[in-house]
Amino acid sequence: MKTHVQSVEVAGVEIGGAEFVVMAGPCAVECESQLLRTADAVARCGARVLRGGAFKPRTSPYCFQGLGEYGLKLLAKARRATGLRIVTEAMSDTQVELVATYADMIQIGSRSMENQALLQAAARSGLPILLKRGMTATVEEVAVAVEILYAHRCPGVVICERGIRTFGTATRNTCDIAAVPLLRHLAGVPVILDPSHASGRRALVPILARAGVAVEADGLLVEVHPEPDRALSDGEQSISFEQFDAMMMDLQPRLKLWRRDRMVVSEARV
Ligand code: PEP
Ligand code: MN
Repeated sequence: MKTHVQSVEVAGVEIGGAEFVVMAGPCAVECESQLLRTADAVARCGARVLRGGAFKPRTSPYCFQGLGEYGLKLLAKARRATGLRIVTEAMSDTQVELVATYADMIQIGSRSMENQALLQAAARSGLPILLKRGMTATVEEVAVAVEILYAHRCPGVVICERGIRTFGTATRNTCDIAAVPLLRHLAGVPVILDPSHASGRRALVPILARAGVAVEADGLLVEVHPEPDRALSDGEQSISFEQFDAMMMDLQPRLKLWRRDRMVVSEARV
């Protein structure tokens, strides 16, 4: 499949180019030590972008909803401490301005992919967007959301495949691995894989990460927590620092092939 992908810059880190970019961090920012310890650990293992929700779209109103602006301040502190870029979610158009003052990239969550007011506001913020696939969205609908962002002058969009709703219940969502090359081709933007939300199961995260490399995803979004069993959200799918380290080591030989394939594609294009 010949594909031209427009790479995206996140404060100097290029996604969709020669580097496989790993974004990692907790599901939610919970406190200073949790975030700074995680940022330090994932940076040491080669992650380039720190993720973490300050505003959390939860399925239940009784679950932890995030630290709000204080969480954003902690993310900015972690960026100063580690040099990692920051991606975090804005849940509504009215939150975009605040999120944009702290983040390097704005995340649009799966539950928000069809919120046009949010897409427009996020596009106009001037920051690149991480667009998570709606959990019931077809690949064509994701491509339309990308069009909307570009129509409102978004500087760059990265799609995140995070699994979709199917009749299967063995995993939290069904990882639509074919959507990675399909979306790169159809939308012409980088696509990263989120093995954490796609599976909902810690043990499956490293092996799905391998699948992401195999289908030439542009990177990964992975939930990492200092004590996954005590996480305030998504602990079942979060991996520990040791597991993240092992996953990154395991990917290294596979990334040699990934880089070779990338070189072949870019040489063919010249
Ligand atoms: C998240 O990234 O923590 C998140 C809420 O993901 P999604 O929108 O894919 O469910
Ligand atoms: Mn999560």
